[in-house]
Amino acid sequence: MDCIFCKLANGEIPTDLVYEDEKVAAFRDVNPVAPVHILVVPKKHYVSLEDIPFDEMSIIADIHAAIRKISDKEGFAVDGYRIINNCGKDGGQEVPHIHYHVLAGKKLTKLVT
Ligand code: C5P
Repeated sequence: MDCIFCKLANGEIPTDLVYEDEKVAAFRDVNPVAPVHILVVPKKHYVSLEDIPFDEMSIIADIHAAIRKISDKEGFAVDGYRIINNCGKDGGQEVPHIHYHVLAGKKLTKLVT
């Protein structure tokens, strides 16, 4: 499958992974919008949240567990961070492999009040 995030997550395209385990990988966004901008993805290809079968939904917990480990390792757990998932066309998703943006390193403007 010709998916850029599959290739990055599974080592087909070499990149400096911020984090990796059996199911999840994380790498830095090429176009960062914050001092820290990391993308966390499942190694298995799912287009979006809408593409994940309910009996495989534990991958979302695996992604969140990975984010906790990354926030500790990278040192932004204390000051905080934001997790964003753009889902589908109206959600602004451009890369069709589910990914969670993790933004940190500055006080972020509130989007939802
Ligand atoms: O949520 P959305 O699909 O819009 O986000 C895609 C993100 O993937 C963008 O922030 C873009 O900069 C990033 N990207 C990347 N490396 C690529 C292609 C896209 O980091 N090769």
